Amino acid sequence: MRVAIFGTGYVGLVTGACLAEVGHEVVCVDVDAAKVDGLNNGVVPIYEPGLAPMVRASHAAGRLRFTTDAAAAMAHGEFVFIAVGTPPDEDGSADLRYVLAVARTIGRHLERPAVVVGKSTVPVGTADKVRAAIAAELEARGVEVAFDVVSNPEFLKEGDAVADCMRPDRIVVGADNPAAVARMRRLYAPFHRNRDRFVVMDVRSAELTKYAANAMLATKISFMNEIANIAERVGADVEAVRQGIGSDPRIGWHFIYPGAGYGGSCFPKDVQALARTARQHGHGAQLLEAVEAVNDRQKGHLFELVQHHYDRGEDEGVRGKVFAVWGLAFKPNTDDMREASSRRLLAQLWEAGASVRAYDPEAMDEARRIYGERDDLVLCGSAQAALEGADALAVVTEWKEFRSPDFARLQAALGDAVVFDGRNLYEPDEVEAAGLAYYGVGRGRSV
Ligand code: NAD
Repeated sequence: MRVAIFGTGYVGLVTGACLAEVGHEVVCVDVDAAKVDGLNNGVVPIYEPGLAPMVRASHAAGRLRFTTDAAAAMAHGEFVFIAVGTPPDEDGSADLRYVLAVARTIGRHLERPAVVVGKSTVPVGTADKVRAAIAAELEARGVEVAFDVVSNPEFLKEGDAVADCMRPDRIVVGADNPAAVARMRRLYAPFHRNRDRFVVMDVRSAELTKYAANAMLATKISFMNEIANIAERVGADVEAVRQGIGSDPRIGWHFIYPGAGYGGSCFPKDVQALARTARQHGHGAQLLEAVEAVNDRQKGHLFELVQHHYDRGEDEGVRGKVFAVWGLAFKPNTDDMREASSRRLLAQLWEAGASVRAYDPEAMDEARRIYGERDDLVLCGSAQAALEGADALAVVTEWKEFRSPDFARLQAALGDAVVFDGRNLYEPDEVEAAGLAYYGVGRGRSV
């Protein structure tokens, strides 16, 4: 089947690559000419396990093409995906500017019936706005072309995006027209041959489902961070508590890790946007607002531990110190630093007069792009190199390669022999036995 995809970011590119992988003919269109040029020359602009070889293979086979030419993409697609960004507006609501710009483009170029598929995460009611924007353009052109707008929210996880897309837990389709659902089933048939994973509903419910999923996951994280904060004060170890509750199947093991707060391009903005939607409809979503507030506070927690260690509240003790920082991406297996907790820590360390030697397995180019040249930042080629000349180590992202360091070497390398473990990767006793001071999150003896 022929698919056009507007937006070649994490969602659009992965979706395009997966659809092409199963034999569909995909044209990806983006307004970023440099990105499109790169892709046409085999340069995959994001790090996602398994993605680059898939993109290159389908591109070479002619099933996956990249263009800035919206008209050409529209001439190709019987399905037209909208996968552009929906960043937060100033007031926290989702900024629909890019989605509606694509809708108008679709209306300007639509020549024959198509299913318009909303993949971007958008507030309830957006599909109606997309439909209206397309219809207005068709009317301005004086043409009538039948089209459907369906909501097909994306649940892929960065770092696991290809696997999620190739083997989805569920495919949510919100549609008013059974014929459009039938076409979506055919498009996705290769992805769920062993059992039906389609969850069909009305458009508004589909739009809300995506926010509900992200808000639930963010709630679990903030809940656990709140328990960690209590554990820290009452002398309990949140890691023991986690073991104690995770085995209850009603709670489960996923997303109950305490840490330095959640980041990324989705949870922060989606929790905010849902709370904003609720407010717009006269409902104060207290739980969602608390989830966000707890997370915001948590992102500053590593620095509180730093202050506590050095001078119990004043910045003077931190001034002039050199911090090795392991992990910049908002989570492992991605190079994405949007809303990453590392960014808060770096800003606070710099503000306090410290400098940073940072290493991340994949996000170094992104860090270079964000921070450029600065006297108080050295971007290092390895975890070991980041330790050279450092006084303290802060671990912010739980990449596998950080999980089992040689603590004796750490002790020898770090001037002040102290580790701030923002993801509870290490056993406090083991670290302390090597002669290091240890601070984790919610581990009883930190504050
Ligand atoms: P992204 O920022 O990585 O990519 C968006 C792309 O859209 C960019 O390449 C941009 O140049 C392009 N674009 C902007 N305007 C355009 C236009 N008019 N025509 C064509 N291309 C245009 O975004 P993303 O992370 O892929 O997210 C896209 C949407 O999917 C968002 O709504 C997001 O909330 C949602 N989502 C993201 C994830 C994730 O893990 N990143 C997961 C599920 C859902």
